[in-house]
Amino acid sequence: EVSVRRPDSTRIFTISNQKGGVGKTTTTVNIAAAFAKHGLKVLVIDLDPQGNASTALGVDHTSEVPSVYDVLIDDFPMEDVIQKSPEFDSLYCVPSTIHLAGAEIELVSQVAREHRLRTALDDFVKRADANSSPWDYIFIDCPPSLGLLTINGFVAATEVLIPIQCEYYALEGLSQLLNSIHLIQKHLNPVLHLSTILLTMFDSRTNLANQVAEDVRAHFPDEVLDAVIPRAVRISEAPSFGQTVISHDPSGIGAVSYLEAAAEIARREATQKKEDN
Ligand code: ADP
Ligand code: MG
Repeated sequence: EVSVRRPDSTRIFTISNQKGGVGKTTTTVNIAAAFAKHGLKVLVIDLDPQGNASTALGVDHTSEVPSVYDVLIDDFPMEDVIQKSPEFDSLYCVPSTIHLAGAEIELVSQVAREHRLRTALDDFVKRADANSSPWDYIFIDCPPSLGLLTINGFVAATEVLIPIQCEYYALEGLSQLLNSIHLIQKHLNPVLHLSTILLTMFDSRTNLANQVAEDVRAHFPDEVLDAVIPRAVRISEAPSFGQTVISHDPSGIGAVSYLEAAAEIARREATQKKEDN
């Protein structure tokens, strides 16, 4: 059993890739659950109108439930919309509801439209620190587009985690994503950086997957985690049980690989800190 240290201060990740179906949501909820399993205090913010992260975490996200929409559009404090996951005591979710589908358009006419989530999250993190109940990790699950919702995720976070599916088109579109991150750094959030790349749905039996993995590692030697998430039925079926794979199949390859990925994310912070000093 690996041990996982708590970060020195709250680490905020946005999970982004403008491609759909690459494992953003699956990675968000399972990395979050992996940290929660170690007793760390973790929040998932569901910023995708599809609400898949809310579903996977088993929290209520029917249309009348207060949600991230109310935070973005009506200045609700995060405390008013947060829900505890039924799975782990220290795992929480800010759900997304169907209303979020309209937010992409409604945000256009809002004041400080790119900073709405950032402002709410900054205040929320500060209040938790002041109450001596700090958040360890916050993960923002983004929709598959580079619109205002995703931009709100980039502006609210300090780190970007990109899940990459090991298939033929994996690197296509990545330069557009990197360019967006660059523009955000330059104009909206100077501390944002791509810290982590995770290879997902990996099938080691195919030459193509191995070749793509090699290419991605060659391009991003410092960002790609050693841990790789294999394609596994237990991972894809877990949401239909309202569970993450961490509880659904705790000793299976899916859970083990997400636990390894989380442990590595925690270790790399420690290493990074040493290099900075
Ligand atoms: P995204 O959020 O990027 O659209 P998802 O996380 O929803 O992607 O994943 C897309 C689909 O692939 C889902 O049906 C999910 O259950 C499935 N999936 C994700 N990761 C794996 C995996 N490692 N093995 C098998 N299926 C997976
Ligand atoms: Mg998703």
